[in-house]
Amino acid sequence: MSYPFCVQTKSKILMIGIDGLLLQRAIDSGRARTLSFLRRDSYFCEMLVDMPTVSGPSWSTILTGVTQDIHRVIDNDFVDHNLAEAPDLLTQASQNFSGISTFAAAGWPPLIDPNDVGPVIAVRKNDIEQGTHSIFVRDGETHGYESVDREVASAALAAIQESAPDLSFVYFCGADEAGHQTGTLKGGYFDAIERIDLLVEQLHHEISERSKKFQERWLIVITTDHGHRDEGGHGGDSAQERATFVIAHGVGMAHPSWPAKIKPEDIVGHLLATL
Ligand SMILES: [Zn+2]
Repeated sequence: MSYPFCVQTKSKILMIGIDGLLLQRAIDSGRARTLSFLRRDSYFCEMLVDMPTVSGPSWSTILTGVTQDIHRVIDNDFVDHNLAEAPDLLTQASQNFSGISTFAAAGWPPLIDPNDVGPVIAVRKNDIEQGTHSIFVRDGETHGYESVDREVASAALAAIQESAPDLSFVYFCGADEAGHQTGTLKGGYFDAIERIDLLVEQLHHEISERSKKFQERWLIVITTDHGHRDEGGHGGDSAQERATFVIAHGVGMAHPSWPAKIKPEDIVGHLLATL
């Protein structure tokens, strides 16, 4: 893959979405080595997502930079949504910087699949044809996220190696899936977190290597869309279900000095200002 235009952005951004991640619990388990390192050595902010604490509304807010009253995604059915008036981060970047290269990879179809509800990340057929945008679509709901997350990570690594897109969104859902199956106090939840942590480590490693080799400035951003109850499940207004965070880690550049307190809908603005 190579991109026909060469836009000079100040830095490249990889945004990693990890669905249903209780970050502090992951760190305390000792099984999230990379997330633990990035949590310590980055810009970091704890945030609360709006109700209901489910994926559709929360990812829509995080990825569009506007709240439910505007994007009107209020559940995972996406009925009567207004995403056409609330473009996602990648689309906004492509409008602000002509020729910018963007990439998205996800296994939850409503985020990305042209043939599913939503999708939150606009399809941008023309940009795909022009070679300035590419997507990697899988269906983890049908095939399970353990293998799909691995495929998503492989596709993202290949994209970074081959063309280093200016702005990428890469999404993992295995922790959320495991939380629903086993709860979030033991076993399966932490197995899934450890698997995802290793994928994050690979992405961080690849970016560090590129940054050294090509003197590139990269920002790695990590966030989640909601927490999980101890017994598994989310949607309610407990602090544990509403808990989210943002990690922003500079590679070949300083960690950002964003305000100490930001909201999920503020991330897009800060990222557009970083490009
Ligand atoms: Zn979710």
